[in-house]
Amino acid sequence: KHQPGETISKGHKCYDLMLNFQLGIRYSVGKHASMLRNLKPGNFHPKEKFWTRFPPEGSKMTPPHQSPGFRWKDYCPTVLRHLRELFQINPIDYMMAICGNDVLRELSSPGKSGSCFYLTQNGKFMIKTVRKCEVKVLIRMLPSYYKHVCRYENSLVTRFYGVHCVKPIGGQKTRFIVMENLLCSEYPIHRRFDLKGSSYGRTTEKLKVDIDETTTLKDLDLNFVFRLQTSCYQELIKQIERDCEFLQGERIMDYSLLVGVHFRDGNTLGKIESCHNEKFMHGHCLPEAELQELDHVLATRKPLIRLGTCMPARAERAAMQPSGFDEPTAGGVKNLTRSQSGEICEAILYFGMIDILQDYDISKKLEHAYKSFQVDSTSISAVDPKLYSKRFRDFIGRVFIKDN
Ligand code: ATP
Ligand code: CA
Ligand code: CA
Repeated sequence: KHQPGETISKGHKCYDLMLNFQLGIRYSVGKHASMLRNLKPGNFHPKEKFWTRFPPEGSKMTPPHQSPGFRWKDYCPTVLRHLRELFQINPIDYMMAICGNDVLRELSSPGKSGSCFYLTQNGKFMIKTVRKCEVKVLIRMLPSYYKHVCRYENSLVTRFYGVHCVKPIGGQKTRFIVMENLLCSEYPIHRRFDLKGSSYGRTTEKLKVDIDETTTLKDLDLNFVFRLQTSCYQELIKQIERDCEFLQGERIMDYSLLVGVHFRDGNTLGKIESCHNEKFMHGHCLPEAELQELDHVLATRKPLIRLGTCMPARAERAAMQPSGFDEPTAGGVKNLTRSQSGEICEAILYFGMIDILQDYDISKKLEHAYKSFQVDSTSISAVDPKLYSKRFRDFIGRVFIKDN
């Protein structure tokens, strides 16, 4: 199996940093594993953060190590331990996945924010470096986040497993979050989409010829819709409503729905090309045996959804211009029903809401004001959280449709 990214072994520029991170995780998970404490309101307090020194020669609490000394910080560790338990992350698996030799890979920076992403060998965990303000937002919303994910086990919001900071002596702080990798799947992901519902700048910069399984495509690249079984569809829409309401309440914006698509019959490039060639794709149901196989996978991961049909939302690229996408009643779905011939295309989808730590703060307000001089202001990614959530849900309602 092809593994994305570059393994972090000796000599890699992040080697020391990640070694510190691993030592920290081993310490934190080990320490809290032995404490079966109940969760108390005080555990959510922003002051619940603990520094630990890791001198190279070792200390009473920490092992000796090869790198220069550093300090390690845990944010709300008791809450995060309860979250891992809630999300059924076994502490030993967690530690082994992160802390082995050469088990981490650095992904070639997928986002624009300057964050670094690391993936564990087993593909289960994703580590992202975040800014101080993002940690603040996470800690601030932790009580309501905890409540939300407890209440809705099928919530699509990112599952967080850890929040930490490494500070080498005399060096800069690096803050990390550990989260689930949404695209860790039994089946290879052929296409990935990062969908926000905004059109401004929402196309991948790569040339069409370069697009492959690892390219993250965006709103304007999506030229088909996902047709779901009625029950799946309803469940999905309901959950997205709840999740958006939660995020809006926390004044969060700029999040996306990440969708990974596995096409059931391998020939995906052909299919994508045929999309561009304005042919249409229709689907059908899977045989019972495969259904059960899928249900099994479904039991181990949340929203793995069978796709009945998938068809292009826009027959032409020209129709995918920003204005078309942002009309409240854009004809995307209507367009579809007109086209009735074509190819069969079945897929399995993996999805969740990512990048949920962006507050609607002063810099976003400025970004909005600045960009709104240039284009229609509702098409910009940086808008008020309420508008953001509405536009996001409208968009989701157009790219996911009900099978009938
Ligand atoms: P920006 O703020 O510019 O959007 P960012 O650095 O905050 O970028 P994200 O939006 O969090 O980055 O993620 C960038 C890409 O990384 C996503 O489009 C997706 O492909 C991948 N990614 C992020 N989080 C996850 C996750 N939990 N599981 C799988 N893939 C992820
Ligand atoms: Ca993002
Ligand atoms: Ca971001």
